[in-house]
Amino acid sequence: MSQNPPVFEVLPRDLSAYRQGNVGIDYVHRFESGKPGPHVLINALTHGNEICGMVAATHLLDAGVRPLIGTLTISFANVAAYESFDQARPFESRQLVHNLNRIWSAAELDGADESPELLRARALRPVVAAADHILDIHSTSQDVEPFWVYPAYARNAQAAVAMGTPPVHLVMPSGLGSGTPLIQHGRHGQAQGDGVALVVECGQHFLQSAADMATGVALDFLAHFGLVAPRASRPAGPAVQRRYELLETCMVRTPDFQFTRPLRGFEVFARDELIATDGTHEIRALCDDCTVMMPTPRGGVPHAAGLRP
Ligand SMILES: [Zn+2]
Repeated sequence: MSQNPPVFEVLPRDLSAYRQGNVGIDYVHRFESGKPGPHVLINALTHGNEICGMVAATHLLDAGVRPLIGTLTISFANVAAYESFDQARPFESRQLVHNLNRIWSAAELDGADESPELLRARALRPVVAAADHILDIHSTSQDVEPFWVYPAYARNAQAAVAMGTPPVHLVMPSGLGSGTPLIQHGRHGQAQGDGVALVVECGQHFLQSAADMATGVALDFLAHFGLVAPRASRPAGPAVQRRYELLETCMVRTPDFQFTRPLRGFEVFARDELIATDGTHEIRALCDDCTVMMPTPRGGVPHAAGLRP
């Protein structure tokens, strides 16, 4: 797959000043209000090159945001991958070895394998497990509109719809289909429960608009749970929110993988329309108004169906 070089409006910056946290785990900062209330985790850099989350997390820390109620934790997850950023290969610093957003099952976390990501996930495990509500901030390779991603639990949908921005929802009725993401660790991966855990995909990794979206959504998430006052500049929610269901996650099988036309994401296909070929394997639309979310530069396609309201 060829890809146009991205526009670099926001680049990584030195995070060493944020390394020393206050809970004994690098890059984790916690603030207690001393009042009853939920424990909310804002997590950045699950993927090392998704720097909008870094902008949001550093904003919260630099601005001295403190919870009015409950507890606020701010974490930078895969700083090791982030620090490997090379502008000539800007997609390579997503991860070093493992995808940090696929290894949150007990089997992986309790297992004997080692990698920078497995070690970091094990270090962060108590941080994720302690949170009542989690916002995990991501961004996309392609310049597409921002959207939420979450397991199809009513508690998640309720919070995301109430916030309203971004207005696009990708719900996962049966998980991601390729490992356990951070937002499905432990109780947040169970249908019964009251903990909200959302991913927000804020737009293209290196755009200022993605950084602004990440900061705004982080503040909205905190305001939703009462930890901060609603921001004055909050955009009025759009009248129409769009909901997609993840039907299939397609992984590339062969070096011959090819989309039938260049895709950025959100293109619409009719049922059975050919989307891509992978050797002799054909990837076809599973329903009408079917779309592709997050086609990667290397061709990996989470593959979602649009169920328009
Ligand atoms: Zn990501």
